[in-house]
Amino acid sequence: MLVKGVVFYLDSDLPFEARSLLEDFRLAVNNAVRAGLQARVTSRNALCRLAYKDFRQEHPRMYAQHLVSAFEVAGSVLKNHCRRARKGVTSRIPFTKRLMMKAENQAYKLDRRSGIIDLPIRAGCHVELRLIVSQYHRKYLDDITLSLGSLTVLPDRVIVAFRKDAPKPYTPDSVISLDTNERSLDGVFVEGNVAKAVKAEFPEVAIIQQRHHDRRRRLQKKKAHDRRISRELCRREGTREHHRIDYRLHQVANSVLKFAEERKSAIVLEDLKGMRPKRNKELNRRLSMWPRRKLHHIIEYKAQWRGIPVVKVDPRNSSRTCPMCGRIQYSRMGAEFVCECGWRLDRHINASLNLLQTAISKGMAGGLRFNPGAFQHDVVMILYEPAMAARSEPNGTSGIVGVT
Ligand SMILES: [Zn+2]
Repeated sequence: MLVKGVVFYLDSDLPFEARSLLEDFRLAVNNAVRAGLQARVTSRNALCRLAYKDFRQEHPRMYAQHLVSAFEVAGSVLKNHCRRARKGVTSRIPFTKRLMMKAENQAYKLDRRSGIIDLPIRAGCHVELRLIVSQYHRKYLDDITLSLGSLTVLPDRVIVAFRKDAPKPYTPDSVISLDTNERSLDGVFVEGNVAKAVKAEFPEVAIIQQRHHDRRRRLQKKKAHDRRISRELCRREGTREHHRIDYRLHQVANSVLKFAEERKSAIVLEDLKGMRPKRNKELNRRLSMWPRRKLHHIIEYKAQWRGIPVVKVDPRNSSRTCPMCGRIQYSRMGAEFVCECGWRLDRHINASLNLLQTAISKGMAGGLRFNPGAFQHDVVMILYEPAMAARSEPNGTSGIVGVT
């Protein structure tokens, strides 16, 4: 089952009753977290058994379903806390500050035509939340193959989870193999007897990260006398950076998937699990900051939602192997891969050819074949370039923060 959270802003302020429900919900979550820590339990059911009776007395009128969701939220807070404690990161007793609540799909009603949510508060008391519905939202509301999942209510907006069964991926007619680099995805597109280089460039991602990294460092120095302010400013920088980069990664993923969908291609990516860190500290920092896993995650997720097949292969030696003769080069290379057999090609595109050959040899590319000799050296198809994202930069003050 696939889930997609869609944000809706509210047409007016949250009604008073709903606001106090959020406050009660937060109280219940924080109480459950403390009770769970004491009794050393983290599962929703265990928390429920442990604390339901007491809460019922404290919040006699709260809708029972909401109370159960509060245990669920508390459970996930506790699990995060335990994970961090296991890793040795000192974390204080978790306390939820943000006003939020979660309602399971039986605990609210959404009229998909009018965009009005009916949210029960307690017996005999319901509130209506009017959502602002744009064309983007219509796409989800009108699609009857999507069912409704949980609802997350925040003071100014709600997040509705839409669910569907994963569609069966199509049988590919062609294949795109992509090597992931710091500033671009480079690869090859193969259809029939034709193989062409493809490229999706996103040089700004690294630039944005460097700029924010420098700015954070400067802030820390400048505000060294006040840790609280320094932390707050750095957090804000982090949120902005996150938005700017996410926006670009989504754009890149969308262009790649659009290309793949139009040509019924399978997508080959390298499997990044188990990549060993290099010895150069500065390079490591840059590599670990650069969200390639995130880009892969976005591509895979969107592909799954749209039924586009994605294949992941072991990238070992992919940047060192000659796709023509199979020799492995152990010496360092420049921007171009050169082999004794006479084969030469852009280093990154060469790597993608090897990824593709691994996928084909493992039978993961749906019976497609590929001959490196058919590669057309003079053509590059641009899947994405920065100019395609030309739009005004969000100013970063209307922070959209993820839900825990
Ligand atoms: Zn060779």
